[in-house]
Amino acid sequence: MFNAPVLVLNQNYEPLNVCDIRRAFNLLGADKAELLERNHQVIHTPRMAIPAPAVIRLVYLVKRPRPRVKLSRREIFARDRHTCQYCGSSSRDLTIDHVVPKHRGGRHEWENLVAACHACNHRKGSKTLAEARMSLLREPRAPRGSLPLRKLPGRRPERHVADLPVPG
Ligand SMILES: [Zn+2]
Repeated sequence: MFNAPVLVLNQNYEPLNVCDIRRAFNLLGADKAELLERNHQVIHTPRMAIPAPAVIRLVYLVKRPRPRVKLSRREIFARDRHTCQYCGSSSRDLTIDHVVPKHRGGRHEWENLVAACHACNHRKGSKTLAEARMSLLREPRAPRGSLPLRKLPGRRPERHVADLPVPG
């Protein structure tokens, strides 16, 4: 019974992990989490019967590093909004340009790769920006991974943590 999984949400309602009921009661009892949803199960202690928590939410925000988006042609086009980063034309038929050319030590990384239309890529060739007298619309950067912020619609904490009895 105590092994039933409890979903733990971050303070901003992002799912964090799953814990067991014992751990959930510890968090609730220590005012570190609030109860969002009960389980259909009931836990019997010698003195009382307590509905088991199903979803709890931490009252503080756990900071997690955002996952890095994996480098790929597709992701570069998406980051650059399918727009040539030299002339600003948008096209479905784009190429990837190394801002600092590979043979000049340019690396295959977010900061050195941009979407470019065929004309601009050809014009730039294997030159640097200065040599080609071209400039970028925006400085290329690694995008931050975005986790969808899943709010549970219409759900409010049923009761405050303090109301919840903790089994001894
Ligand atoms: Zn272009």
